Amino acid sequence: MKNIAIIGAGLSGLIAARQLGNAANVTIFEKSKGVGGRIATRRSGLYSFDHGAQFFTPKTELFKDFLKPMILEGHIKRWDGDFVEIINREFSFKHKWDASLPHYVGAPSMNSFAKRLSVGTDIRQNTLVNSIVRKNEYWQIYDINQRLLGEYDWVIVSTPPEQALQLLPQFPTFCSELVTPKMKACFSIMLGFDADLSLSFDAALPLGEDISWISVDSSKPDRGQAHCLLIHSTNDWADQHLEDDRNKVLEYMIEETSNILDRDLNCASHKDVHGWRFANIERQVGKNYFLDTTHNVALCGDWFIKGRIEAAFTSGYEVARAMETAL
Ligand SMILES: Cc1cc2nc3c(=O)[nH]c(=O)nc-3n(C[C@H](O)[C@H](O)[C@H](O)COP(=O)(O)OP(=O)(O)OC[C@H]3O[C@@H](n4cnc5c(N)ncnc54)[C@H](O)[C@@H]3O)c2cc1C
Repeated sequence: MKNIAIIGAGLSGLIAARQLGNAANVTIFEKSKGVGGRIATRRSGLYSFDHGAQFFTPKTELFKDFLKPMILEGHIKRWDGDFVEIINREFSFKHKWDASLPHYVGAPSMNSFAKRLSVGTDIRQNTLVNSIVRKNEYWQIYDINQRLLGEYDWVIVSTPPEQALQLLPQFPTFCSELVTPKMKACFSIMLGFDADLSLSFDAALPLGEDISWISVDSSKPDRGQAHCLLIHSTNDWADQHLEDDRNKVLEYMIEETSNILDRDLNCASHKDVHGWRFANIERQVGKNYFLDTTHNVALCGDWFIKGRIEAAFTSGYEVARAMETAL
């Protein structure tokens, strides 16, 4: 069997690995200590925050079928949240999510289903791939200390485009594919409270603000009792403030959200901030993945389609199907 290296254990990399697992020996290299990439959960004591992706509403039959077993097993559950839009600081549109358009989340945390998907796959966590070099008929994978991590027949890079370009700068064909899409940033702040704030919503979409999303993360299924708010900045604000001091970002976002909700959120007993440099991307036109059967290299990820969980699934699935044929 051929040996395949996949860079990144986000959803697209995990899906590609699962699809190819029967046809090849697959190894995933992941720089972080966990799996799931931007499907992420951070805990502190009793508080738990999904500080990346919030939920997903499956569109295609393929994705719906893929989700079914994990829904049956309880790794994915419906979040029947009370949703509001906030315009001019007024709650303008209220709606309860229900079975007519299911809003799904991982349970008991967003990254639970990514963990489920990773079972049985050889994943080298805490391993940042620094360079990928073509040598004879093989791909050599090196870490930051120029240590050889292995030689592979094929390599699939499932990172955001800017990171993929750093890993594969030597091929002009890749460069022409990769320089175009630019991902947008996002800040997430995580606030934990001693008592329930009794807000009248579970998820809120403020319009015309630097804050783009406020959710009561503790209202998602199977979360604990500890009251948790997860707040996102807009992509534009994050792009402009990405290098700012993180405490200042936290302060500003608490202030803005307090004003939007007319509630002082400084009383939070837990406060944290995370900056996503490559968070999201608008809808793209063109291929759902990149495959070069001359050099045995492929690229996948949400960024080929749109910054959405389903897009990551589609890209990872389709690149693997195309590679199965090539193998
Ligand atoms: C703040 C935020 C909110 C979002 N909200 C939603 C939402 O509500 N609904 C929705 O559908 N989508 C949402 N998304 C988007 C969704 O999370 C992504 O579309 C999806 O998770 C992307 O998966 P991926 O596999 O393409 O990439 P990623 O998840 O980014 O996976 C890439 C992986 O590669 C790893 N990696 C990178 N470089 C290296 C390297 N050199 N060596 C080793 N490993 C490396 C990374 O650590 C990462 O694990 C959100 C994203 C963010 C950030």
